[in-house]
Amino acid sequence: MEIKLQNIRKRFGETVALDDLSLEFCDGKLTTLLGPSGCGKSTLLNLISGILPPTSGSIYFGDRDVTSLSPDKRNIGLVFQNYALYPHMTVGENIAFPLEIKKVSKKERLERAAEFAKLLRIEDYFTRKPSQLSGGQQQRVAIARALAKEPEILLLDEPLSNLDARLRLEMREEIRRLQMETGITTIFVTHDQEEALSISDHILLLKKGRIQQYGLPQELYDEPCNPFVADFLGNPPINLYEGIVDGNRVILQGDNTGFLIAGMNGIERGRRVKLGIRSEAFEAAAEGVYETPATVRNVFLNGKETLYLLEIGGKEFRSTLESGQTYEIGGKISVRLKKKGVHIYDSETEEKIG
Ligand code: ATP
Repeated sequence: MEIKLQNIRKRFGETVALDDLSLEFCDGKLTTLLGPSGCGKSTLLNLISGILPPTSGSIYFGDRDVTSLSPDKRNIGLVFQNYALYPHMTVGENIAFPLEIKKVSKKERLERAAEFAKLLRIEDYFTRKPSQLSGGQQQRVAIARALAKEPEILLLDEPLSNLDARLRLEMREEIRRLQMETGITTIFVTHDQEEALSISDHILLLKKGRIQQYGLPQELYDEPCNPFVADFLGNPPINLYEGIVDGNRVILQGDNTGFLIAGMNGIERGRRVKLGIRSEAFEAAAEGVYETPATVRNVFLNGKETLYLLEIGGKEFRSTLESGQTYEIGGKISVRLKKKGVHIYDSETEEKIG
């Protein structure tokens, strides 16, 4: 079921939580609402669920205007971070409960609860109470309960934030598997960019109630449309510095260090820019006029790759230097930039210009 937002605004007194959002969430896809604390993610989810009314604007599920419908009339499944399971009921009873409200017969309720318990791999705990389960198992019960009533839309508000790192990884794979198996349109709130990059069909990145970028995870990572998006996505974070354009170089502010950047010919000399360089865009090179001298200040191993902290013209840069070679702390090297992973933004407007 596709979800359409038309000129959605939400105010809380003086606070503008959502500022004129118009967009569509695609049918059958998993979209994450991503952004820093306070950007409006939960508010948007609460508007879609009907828990909160918008101040103005309309919400459609398919062709149906649901703006003034209460949550129980919207045919949605909701999962929050605190699970909200009924402590006195067993796992099976918890999963079956929404079906009881829907007046499904007892036999069918139990059958369907068993089916969803199996889908979530918690069938062995069917007769246990929530207090006898781990956090991850409880979270699975909450998701099974939301799915058992066969909603058209699944809304998940930071469902993994109470779980430890390992379980979080497992559960996000599980949610993705389920979403793909059932084909249910899903909206998933998170402030964790890695989580968003790994499980989404689409990411909606918000800041202060406004859309920063909406698209495929790879698009947001490869072509961030402003410095905020560039900085928000990616681990290690992008290197972002102010500079001035000088021919085919960007000279960093505060010193004479410059980077030669391919394909910059269209940008006028003297323009003030923000230069974003992904850690993987650095390449170690032989010393030469087109290369930039760097000193290795620190080396961090993280298992799959080595991260080098480079000092270039008095500034620090995170870099992965994928060359197969290793470098020592204090070593002097020369680097150049690849084209991919280098982004140039106008300093004032923050618009992407290269
Ligand atoms: P977090 O990641 O911290 O949960 P969020 O992105 O989900 O944040 P929201 O909870 O949607 O952000 O809040 C958006 C803005 O609206 C914030 O400035 C918040 O303080 C404000 N806000 C949210 N709910 C209320 C409320 N009931 N009354 C007043 N202000 C609110």
